[in-house]
Amino acid sequence: MNTKTSALKLDVKKSAAGLGLFAGEPIKKGAKIIEYVGEKISADEANKRGGKYLFEINSKWTIDGTTRKNTARYVNHACGKAANCEAENKGGRIFIIAKKNIGAGDELTYDYGSEYFDEHIKPHGCRCVSCTSPRS
Ligand SMILES: [Zn+2]
Repeated sequence: MNTKTSALKLDVKKSAAGLGLFAGEPIKKGAKIIEYVGEKISADEANKRGGKYLFEINSKWTIDGTTRKNTARYVNHACGKAANCEAENKGGRIFIIAKKNIGAGDELTYDYGSEYFDEHIKPHGCRCVSCTSPRS
């Protein structure tokens, strides 16, 4: 199965929040970096399964991105402006898009949204750049 959406070089490496996905080369703002792939399941099934890798497409469908083929699952959360990517729903497929120019070696992040944040991140404390760097 061909899951490649681009020829961009990406590296899975250790980051502050466990494993993360890093740019292996500079990425231009607006570039489609990677698709969030996985099994398409109904909202009911998603509620039954639970887990951290569920990506809601709409009220009916969710992608279960638990599969190892889903490299996009390594993209960690960052709050709001600290994120350099965003997830876009294009006709029911989810793509991680560069929100700004990204340098080689930078970690890729997007804002997971408040629902995910409250359930999975808040209990441990957020470790994104915006939350861990001292306020000026
Ligand atoms: Zn944060």
